[in-house]
Amino acid sequence: MTASTPNETTAVQAQAAQTDGFHLVIDALKLNGIDTIFGLPGIPITDLTRMAQTAGMRVISFRHEQHAGNAAAAAGFLTQKPGICLTVSAPGFLNGLTALANATTNCFPMILISGSSEREIVDLQQGDYEEMDQLAIAKPLCKAAFRILHAQDIGVGVARAIRSALSGRPGGVYLDMPAKLFSQTMDAVAGAASLIQVVDAAPRQIPAPDAVQRALDVLKSAQKPLILLGKGAAYAQADASIRALVERSGIPYLPMSMAKGILPDTHGQCASAARSHVLAEADVVLLIGARLNWLLSHGKGKTWGGSTTRRFIQIDIAPTEMDSNVPIAAPLVGDVGSCVDALLAGMGSNWAEPPAEWTRAVYDKRDKNQAKMAETLAKNPSPMNFQSALSAVREVIRENPEAILVNEGANTLDFTRSIVDMYLPRKRLDVGTWGIMGIGMGFSVAAAVVTGKPVIAVEGDSAFGFSGMEVETICRYHLPVCVVVFNNNGVYRGTDVNGSGGADVAPTVFVKGARYEMMMQAFGGVGVVANTPAELGAAMREAVASGKPTLINAIIDETAGTESGRITMLNPQTAKK
Ligand code: ADP
Repeated sequence: MTASTPNETTAVQAQAAQTDGFHLVIDALKLNGIDTIFGLPGIPITDLTRMAQTAGMRVISFRHEQHAGNAAAAAGFLTQKPGICLTVSAPGFLNGLTALANATTNCFPMILISGSSEREIVDLQQGDYEEMDQLAIAKPLCKAAFRILHAQDIGVGVARAIRSALSGRPGGVYLDMPAKLFSQTMDAVAGAASLIQVVDAAPRQIPAPDAVQRALDVLKSAQKPLILLGKGAAYAQADASIRALVERSGIPYLPMSMAKGILPDTHGQCASAARSHVLAEADVVLLIGARLNWLLSHGKGKTWGGSTTRRFIQIDIAPTEMDSNVPIAAPLVGDVGSCVDALLAGMGSNWAEPPAEWTRAVYDKRDKNQAKMAETLAKNPSPMNFQSALSAVREVIRENPEAILVNEGANTLDFTRSIVDMYLPRKRLDVGTWGIMGIGMGFSVAAAVVTGKPVIAVEGDSAFGFSGMEVETICRYHLPVCVVVFNNNGVYRGTDVNGSGGADVAPTVFVKGARYEMMMQAFGGVGVVANTPAELGAAMREAVASGKPTLINAIIDETAGTESGRITMLNPQTAKK
């Protein structure tokens, strides 16, 4: 070994003092507390995934970008940090885009980072590898979109993406990174100094005192008040304040599906089992982080008893949400926590409870409906139907309130939402605002990765098909995910026939008796067939106890299930009638 000359030492030091685009991206994310990337490696981001892992980040590789994107969105919803999805250029980017648009629609914070090909070639349309003007395509589908061309701008680009995703109404952000960016080098000290640690990324938005007073006045005048909790309330993590508001006001409340569990569904003021009654009858509705979109019949019509005199108070961080469907008598613009706290302060300690006549009618209706449901759940038909299978799921969730329930399908979604009680906030992840299919395995992976809690995914057999290959991802990372496939041989049900009498099965029919459990076995997980609620319950308990990736093929009567579940009326043919 020979001693190096002073010149050689200086040269080595100079080299060591350089950083590059790869490391600046990783450092910028880490500086902002982002420790996980969901993605799929390939040109030009393969090395970025390797280096991120080497630098101590958790890198979860998927089999398809849409599921990595869905995982990022769910992680954002659960943690209030933007979930990161990393994809390759053009096709990978496009695959991630569905999830980005869905995240934006649902107000979940996520950042889709995609590698892209060279600007000079793309802009002249000279035919680069995977050439596509990704920034232009992403823009209308997300909350904000940025491109970073120079290494010294990575800090600013990442900071802008984080702020855009989290502040105000959360949503999806696209960050375009051309391949050349990653290999650009710069002085390491200057590079570190160029990074930004975002301060107060989601500033509280305090409602104006006169708006608070207006809301209280409307609420006080109600004879039949109702509180409606949406997934914005769940996202806000203001659980104790919301509970205090509900309990101090004595007003019945209704959770939207992903707001279930902010207060336990078994709470004395929960009106879920009297949903139709309270929506049709309430004279004042306090919306907390819930939009009056199609899921709430736009706040009007038959669902709302045809009333045109009902008054709404709406808490939302987005001022433009107000009056989007019906007039909002008392808009309360701000973050859920600040608004609810302001209402509580204004209510004082001797707020008058709503008229007993109203609350009694609501709870009587609820109790009657629950008794009817208990009778249905106690039946044990063979093969299982949705209700009998879900009676087992319901018990397992009751015993494991920490578990996260992921849920998608048509009938599987509708029945699960109404039958399975949730006990803790942000434990239910589902198809959301679009009623989208395909979120199942992506959401499950994210839930397991960011919470470390057991995940139970209750999936229609059709819904499961969209993301089923990700069971390999679940096995690869040894995630405590138990997938329950409600197998009734088809979309909606398995009994449709080919109208032409031809050899093909009907468009809604799958292979009969499919062995979904073997998909999990193929990758080293546990696969079980369940024919009865007892078998289903036992297999789920075993899965939760062991933490092993498990898929339970729950055999459901193929005649069970209705067309499109609860939203049959949205089919054009049905709507025509
Ligand atoms: P659901 O589908 O459960 O009814 P929506 O997705 O329709 O819920 O509504 C969620 C609403 O919550 C959105 O209008 C969004 O702007 C709002 N929101 C999200 N986060 C917050 C927050 N921290 N504070 C106030 N409003 C919020």
